[in-house]
Formats: sequence, structure tokens, C-alpha cells
Amino acid sequence: MKKLFPLLLICLAGSAAYAQIDSALLMKDLQILSSDKMEGRKTGTRGNRMAQLYLLQRFREVGIKPFNNTYEQSFFFSRGEQRIMGTNIYGYVKGNVDSFIVISAHYDHLGIKTPANGTDSIYNGADDNASGVGALLAIAKYYKDHRPHHGLIFAAFDAEEMGLQGSKAFVAELPVSAEQILLNINMDMVSHNDKRELYVCGTSLYPELKTYVIPAAARSSILMPMGHDKPEDGSQNWVNQSDHFEFHQKKIPFLYFGVEDHPDYHQPSDEFSRINPSFYYQAVSSILMVIQEADK
Ligand SMILES: [Zn+2]
Repeated sequence: MKKLFPLLLICLAGSAAYAQIDSALLMKDLQILSSDKMEGRKTGTRGNRMAQLYLLQRFREVGIKPFNNTYEQSFFFSRGEQRIMGTNIYGYVKGNVDSFIVISAHYDHLGIKTPANGTDSIYNGADDNASGVGALLAIAKYYKDHRPHHGLIFAAFDAEEMGLQGSKAFVAELPVSAEQILLNINMDMVSHNDKRELYVCGTSLYPELKTYVIPAAARSSILMPMGHDKPEDGSQNWVNQSDHFEFHQKKIPFLYFGVEDHPDYHQPSDEFSRINPSFYYQAVSSILMVIQEADK
């Protein structure tokens, strides 16, 4: 793997149509966030705090601006008897107009679990959802260098795995008014699919958003089917499955990007070595193309 990796990056960088995303940095962020050092990033743990510190450093490096001098939004919620504190990390890149697109991904995951008769397992959450956070940072870096028309808010949510708690807290106390937010782009699991399929969920609820997806999908080198958003999809209806749901509840339109469940989903094996680097890079580039369409 070590020897193949530089070669792979050269191949990725050679794909001119996707020269906009820094592939080396994208992989590095995913690798660091899903490393054992981050201990599975469970809300309220040391590993989660380490992920926060890493994100704060990366937000500063990228040049994302804080609202009111802070990137952090702390919030509290109850789980049974427990009172838990979570922390969202968010900021913005200035646009030409006073309306915004919120680009989001949750950074928490399941932490370390100890089976009855075994050794501790770290749930690294490489695809779920270090991949979405890596994408968020790469897209922010792109827009720092290419000023957007709309303001872009970048939000890394905590405590998604405990019931969308971070996004719930965020929409309850938005940094701008809800009327100023045009759209939420949410990314959760975007790096691991053997069929090269990245689903776009939300267009059956907000059909006007298809005009952003169709041209991007036409130029993409992966498949971008729309779906998983109708009542008849049953358990495969993803409308309430990640943080975009809280925006939908506030009547803010959303597009959610994610892959179908794979054998590593919510397993200790969801680690860096299991992602598809080429698919991941093309998925992030394709999401960027959708945002470019929406930002026109
Ligand atoms: Zn997730």
C-alpha cells in the first residue's frame, strides 16, 4: 500500500477535468481523522476532542472565517441518565451576496467498544464520516481560492450518531437567518462504493434542485443516481438518516450525498484501507460540481 500510494495520487492528479480538488490533502485529512489516535471520535470522549482540535487547526489553515470570533458551538443533550456535551465546528467563506449555502458533514463516530469476551475495537469511521469531513475541508479550500457568489457556511457536526444532536442544535441557533439559507449540502459516507455509485437524496422533495444535479452528473465520471427519498423506499428512505433532516424540518431545501450501506458500515473494519481513493476523489469533485451549479 505504501508503495502504491504515490503512484495512485499521480494518476488522480492527472485527471484534468478534476483539477479543482487537492487530492493529496483530501486523502491526508481522511487518513488522520480515521486513525487509531482519534479513538473513533465518539461524542464526549478524548478522541472526539482530538478530532475537534484537528478541525480547528484545519479551519484556520484553510482560512475559513469564524462567526463572532469562534468556530465552536457547544450544546448539551440527554441520553438516559447522562447529560452529554457536544461541540459543532463551523465558519464561513464570504460571497458576493448575503445569502448562504450550508455545506455539512458530521465528524463524530462510535468510539471504542469492548465486546464481552474480546479486546477493545476502535470504530475508526473512515467512510462514516471522516470522508464527509475531508470533503468539506477540500471544498472549503477550493472556495477560499475561488470566491463564491453566495456565502458558504461550513459546518462539521458533532453527535450525529446519537440522534442528529449537532445539527439540531445548529438549526436552533443559526448564525444567519433561516431565510438567508438557500440550501444544505450534506455529506455522510462518500468514499466507499464498489459500483462507483454516489446517491443524491432530496430531489423528490425539492424537484427544482435537479437543475443543479443533472449537469454535474453528466460531467461526472461516477454514477450519481437520485433517490432514497420517497415514502415507498421504506427503510431505504434516507430523508431522516443524517443531519440534512434537521434542515428539512426547518423547510430549508437539502441535497444529501452518500453511498449505499457496505459490509464495513458501523463495523471496526470501516477504516482507511477499505476506502476507494479514486472513487472518493471523483465523488468529492462531483459534489463540488453540484455546488458550482447551485452557486451560479
Ligand atoms: Zn454517518
